[in-house]
Amino acid sequence: MNGDNPAPAGHGARLTIDLAALAANWRALGACAPWAECGAVVKADAYGCGLSAVAPALWRAGCRTFFVAHLSEAIAARTLLPDAALYVLNGLPPGSADAFRAHGLRPVLGTREELREWAAATEGRAPAALHVDTGMNRLGLSVAEALALAGDPVITRAGIDLLMSHLVSAERPDDPINPRQAADFARVRAAFPQMRASLANSSGTCLAHDARHDLLRPGYALFGGNPEPGQPNPMRPVVRLEATILQVRDVEAGATCGYNGRWQAPAPRRLATLSLGYADGYPRSASDHGHALVGGLPCPIVGLISMDLIILDVTGAHEARRGGIATLIGDALDIDTVGRAAGTIGYEILTGLRSRYVRSYIDH
Ligand SMILES: *Cc1c(COP(=O)(O)O)cnc(C)c1O
Repeated sequence: MNGDNPAPAGHGARLTIDLAALAANWRALGACAPWAECGAVVKADAYGCGLSAVAPALWRAGCRTFFVAHLSEAIAARTLLPDAALYVLNGLPPGSADAFRAHGLRPVLGTREELREWAAATEGRAPAALHVDTGMNRLGLSVAEALALAGDPVITRAGIDLLMSHLVSAERPDDPINPRQAADFARVRAAFPQMRASLANSSGTCLAHDARHDLLRPGYALFGGNPEPGQPNPMRPVVRLEATILQVRDVEAGATCGYNGRWQAPAPRRLATLSLGYADGYPRSASDHGHALVGGLPCPIVGLISMDLIILDVTGAHEARRGGIATLIGDALDIDTVGRAAGTIGYEILTGLRSRYVRSYIDH
């Protein structure tokens, strides 16, 4: 896509983030629930894609509500999004209420202690969300605890304006936990009728109607991840990762390559060495499993991935030559495929993308 030399001289690889595709994905997810508001989860530096470019792009697309994990992430987001509603999913660290208020941030409160602390610090003058745990057993009040708080003045004193829960298994639409969580959340919601409610992450947005409520919280699918594993991916790809080919060599049958000689050529082969490795966030666990595209042709990764280098079997890929390009993410190779090859999920591939790459953002 970028012609030769994917990275400027002196760099190993280029990461290209398509902000127009990101905005299109946000609009497409919102269209799944036209009655609801579509927010955006931009924790972990916007899933590795760079908060400082992603947050303003989503704002320009019309997004007004954002979620991050940590207070520090929210403070960084505030400088980029002066007028957005910013929620902090990991809640209120002890003694941090003043910092939240100073930056106009909204904690997602998940314990009675957090509720009390926020209520005492704000006396109803600053909004917050209430997290109800409907099955994750990770963060939030239990359903029983939440129901017991209906009508309790602490809810008003804590400025609660959003009721939230998180789905355990939304990417598996047939998992019976989905309707159980939806039913429990609906029960809690009925006990707080004046409040807005949010349950759906990316995959939840694709589930049945009753997961969507008033505010969607997609993250992964915004960045091109497939919210419906096993189905064709409805999202536009956002991330492209390309590395330079440093050398091409021909090896005899029986030759090995890489550390520990773990791969052995079954026949004469042509190998290409790429200028990126696990120190760039490309997972070493994809050794012998992953592939890259050279001239559109899938070329398997052979041998162990090194810190700064990857070896491909480019036999048959006639475009493989010094200074050429290999695509590690992009075109027919999506982040879910790379995640599977590495024995993990696309989320971990995205959030592992490192600062070592030359990054470029495109917006058309
Ligand atoms: C990360 C997160 C999301 C976004 O989930 P995706 O699967 O990336 O869409 C939504 N809600 C909560 C509570 C989260 O932690």
